[in-house]
Amino acid sequence: MTDIPDDHPRAQSLRTRHRIEDGVEKGITSKQGLIAEGRGEAFDYLLGERTLPSADAAERAAAAQLLLADHPVLSVNGNVAALVPAEMVELADVTGADLEVNLFNRTEERIEAIADHLREHGAEEVKGLAADERIPGLEHERAKVDADGIYAADVVLVPLEDGDRAAALAEMGKTEIVVDLNPMSRSPQAAAIPVVDNVMRAIPNVTEHARDLADAPAAELERIVEEFDPDEALAAAERALRTLDDD
Ligand code: ATP
Repeated sequence: MTDIPDDHPRAQSLRTRHRIEDGVEKGITSKQGLIAEGRGEAFDYLLGERTLPSADAAERAAAAQLLLADHPVLSVNGNVAALVPAEMVELADVTGADLEVNLFNRTEERIEAIADHLREHGAEEVKGLAADERIPGLEHERAKVDADGIYAADVVLVPLEDGDRAAALAEMGKTEIVVDLNPMSRSPQAAAIPVVDNVMRAIPNVTEHARDLADAPAAELERIVEEFDPDEALAAAERALRTLDDD
């Protein structure tokens, strides 16, 4: 990765961009992933490349929800694998969740490459290769999931998910946590817990909250989830984007 000085005003976004470029070169990120990255960068620029207080509250609620889950699954696509592979493995460890590769443009080659990449970053088991179930209401290739993974999950974390699939998962009754920098996108709007933050800041912060809450009683975790208001979180993020407020 090219060296970017810490005091460069756009250091974080340049590092993110390089990771996505590397991901494309390694065959784990698709070309569409580059476009998604560009959209994300524009929103992050407007947010001031920081975690809003409302996003931090969503990240805490996400941690509580994952700890409460019977069968939590963390979904990994090409951008997530390029940006936060070790961080996803760590979050899975801390919350007892499974990792499943789940691609918009699915090819067996890319699934294998992402699974290998996650294993290189410490993952023991990676789901997504069996693809022996379908999410109802989606076209064949995009519907594929593992029967003992996302299909059976009660809580799914889907960073940077496509809007149709986010809606279809919500329709299946899954409690969905979506990370997306655009609060007006359909995916965060379908989520029980929308996290409007860069996945590079969001995932480590969810892990930190999960560590902090690891010994909390279920009643406290339930209270944190209940007190979280998804509509208010989306509205706060949109206000911050439109007015550059500190929400
Ligand atoms: P939808 O179908 O949900 O309306 P979309 O068409 O707006 O989605 P895509 O271009 O398919 O969005 O996916 C990119 C989404 O991912 C954008 O909303 C973008 O803001 C978000 N995104 C890209 N990079 C990141 C990142 N590093 N962290 C969080 N979100 C990101």
